[in-house]
Amino acid sequence: MKVLIAEDEAVSRKLLENTLKQWGYEVIAVENGRKAWEIVQQEGAPRLLILDWMMPEMDGIEVIHHIRSREDPLYSYVILLTSKNERKDIVEGLSSGADDYLAKPFDSNELKQRILVGRRILELLSELSKAREMLARKASIDSLTSLYNRGAILELLEKEIYRAKREKSLLGLIMLDLDHFKRVNDTFGHMAGDAILREAAKRVAKGIRPYDYAGRYGGEEFLIIMPGCNFVSTRSRAEEILRQIRSPKMNIPEAILQVTASIGYVSTELIEDYNPRLMVQMADSALYEAKSSGRDRIASINFFRNYKIGGLKPTNYHFSENI
Ligand code: GH3
Ligand code: MG
Ligand code: MG
Ligand code: MG
Repeated sequence: MKVLIAEDEAVSRKLLENTLKQWGYEVIAVENGRKAWEIVQQEGAPRLLILDWMMPEMDGIEVIHHIRSREDPLYSYVILLTSKNERKDIVEGLSSGADDYLAKPFDSNELKQRILVGRRILELLSELSKAREMLARKASIDSLTSLYNRGAILELLEKEIYRAKREKSLLGLIMLDLDHFKRVNDTFGHMAGDAILREAAKRVAKGIRPYDYAGRYGGEEFLIIMPGCNFVSTRSRAEEILRQIRSPKMNIPEAILQVTASIGYVSTELIEDYNPRLMVQMADSALYEAKSSGRDRIASINFFRNYKIGGLKPTNYHFSENI
């Protein structure tokens, strides 16, 4: 474990450094608070800090203030080391945000144990944040298909659309719906339906690039977000995904089934004033078009510039494509 020591007195600093090294710590030692603060801000910086209170340029309390007021998901555990050892000093030191306090001259056994307390807390925090990450991941995944769930994919769409706007890049969106899926359930049962959904999801995931996102938007409906895709490349991705769904036939315990899907797709390329809701609405309208013109096909809407929400008129879009 790495420990940062900031102490202006050379002899004390060296003594601390050597003691900690003997105990097996990797030590970075600096002589003032400004240098300590610089190191703390670096990537992979030590999380356990032993700071002297009185130091030139920036004192220990100031370093702690800087650390506590920044937005950092990782915690720094700070032991304040000082010759100020009156009760009011201890109170001031701890209330400034220090986790612990050790009076100089320090007793080496006491220091050893106090560092171990810090380690324990840092280790607990790291476990906690891992558990949190795992929960967050779980909460965003659809348990049947392992794709993003509805909430997560819509959140991602929002994020990616605003990123596309900010970076003036493009984004393609695909809405896919399995054809006559109800028949699978009705004929072979719900378990068979679930197996088909899982297989379809697998094929969707296989048909996208590593930086695309696929999610289950509804029962047998999927949304695929494709950052950087213009109209034409969105269309070819849509064609590819449809081919993957269609062939080979899906082999489930109950039967071997020919499954097809319909896709509505859009790209921000041709829309001047886009937002997540409009994009979903347009993909949905196009999907409706693909369904009503025969299924097992892709469709997009006939784009025109200055497309505004509320200006969506059914007569303005109709081109569906058989592939
Ligand atoms: P269309 O070609 O017009 O899309 O017809 P469809 O039958 O696919 O569409 P419809 O919306 O009528 O039916 C969708 C069906 O999907 C109804 C519902 O029972 C089924 N479904 C939704 N979620 C699940 C699920 O998690 N598992 C299973 N097995 N079926 C599901
Ligand atoms: Mg000092
Ligand atoms: Mg369907
Ligand atoms: Mg549906």
